[in-house]
Amino acid sequence: MTINPAKTCQPIGAMYAALGIHGCLPHSHGSQGCCAYHRSTLTRHYKEPISAATSSFTEGSSVFGGQANLLQAIETIFTVYDPEIIAIHTTCLSETIGDDLPQIIKKARDEGKAPAGKEVIGAPTPSYVGSHVTGFSNMVKAMANMALPTERKNGKVNIIPGWVEPSDMEEIKRLAATVGVDITLFPDTSGVLNGPLNGEYTMFPKGGVTIAELKNCSAAIGTLALGEWCSADAARLLDTRHKVPCRVLDMPFGLKATDRFIDALRTVGGTTVPEEISYERGQLVDLISDMHQYFYHKRVALAGDPDQLIALTEFLVSIDMCPVHLVTGTPGKRFEKRIRDITRDMPFPVNVRAKGDMFLLHQWIKNDPVDLIIGNSYCKYIARDEDTPLVRFGFPILDRQGHQYFPTVGYKGGLRLLEKILSALLDRTDRDAPEEKFELVF
Ligand code: SF4
Repeated sequence: MTINPAKTCQPIGAMYAALGIHGCLPHSHGSQGCCAYHRSTLTRHYKEPISAATSSFTEGSSVFGGQANLLQAIETIFTVYDPEIIAIHTTCLSETIGDDLPQIIKKARDEGKAPAGKEVIGAPTPSYVGSHVTGFSNMVKAMANMALPTERKNGKVNIIPGWVEPSDMEEIKRLAATVGVDITLFPDTSGVLNGPLNGEYTMFPKGGVTIAELKNCSAAIGTLALGEWCSADAARLLDTRHKVPCRVLDMPFGLKATDRFIDALRTVGGTTVPEEISYERGQLVDLISDMHQYFYHKRVALAGDPDQLIALTEFLVSIDMCPVHLVTGTPGKRFEKRIRDITRDMPFPVNVRAKGDMFLLHQWIKNDPVDLIIGNSYCKYIARDEDTPLVRFGFPILDRQGHQYFPTVGYKGGLRLLEKILSALLDRTDRDAPEEKFELVF
């Protein structure tokens, strides 16, 4: 039984991924309520208006299927909003009815409802299995499915960043450019969900991977998939169908995972690591050594998505913190195995659960308290109940702002993570210090 879920619904991930294609209007094939929920959750996290269409199921569609609604929707969307591409995801209802998305999309093309030169892709996202992470992965796989057969290679490298912030996608592009590797990043929500306020509304902002780039990603010399849960399926599709060799890496959070990412970039791109990157790495090592005294053996509880938690746990262990309770709402027993491997030499026993919930995490913390909680905004209830500091990280963050502008990936992102963690710990030390021990410097 799930009491307080540590996940949200599949289409939200599919919608977020779809926004990373330039000129894309995501479409929710289900009832209006589903679409409103997906849009509002993304709007609350990214603080941007999220445009998306819906098949607007009524009782009739629920009984007879949603084909007529979707055909009408495709025609109306291209006529009224003129996107380059519509990315359709299903919902619990349309999946339960058994609507056949590929067949409906083909019918729309055959009947001329999708004009020539425009694209329609679809991803199945039944929310009664998996989580928002599964939905994200399914939509990214639908993007990879757009790649056209080719014999030539264009020297580029595909990077599938996984579910990270727009700022993280920007940072991954900066790192690749600094290492001298020409990449196609997909999805790419930078410039879409963290764009400037300039007084003009643009329904389709400048950012996002283009359709031409997606069709050409079969010509890449390799793919780096960041995160087994979010990115591996798409990378493996390109590998098996178009012989683009792929490597699945952890998301580049923290020192070691970023080292592996930079090394993989260098290897696949055939370049060397420039001094600028070594300098950034050195800064992170310096900050770790300066802060280490405060981190040593601090106990941490974490809730979030598997790809993020695996890399973050490795980072925490590398700075001698102790992640002792970990929960993800996304299924996959491999998550538990990876966490147990990473925390093998820690001095405390570890509780870890895939497909777990926040109630379980709360019980673990009650029985065995921690110094810090790291997770999304829903963790604030546990943090308040247990009077424990909270660092907000992951999705969704509904009650704080700025996360879409400051990266947490790479060496520079590592600096930000460390700063947030130490501030939370020392703010608590300041608050709790008795008068005679309240010092300017701890
Ligand atoms: S019905 Fe399913 S798809 Fe719709 S909001 Fe609920 S969980 Fe998500």
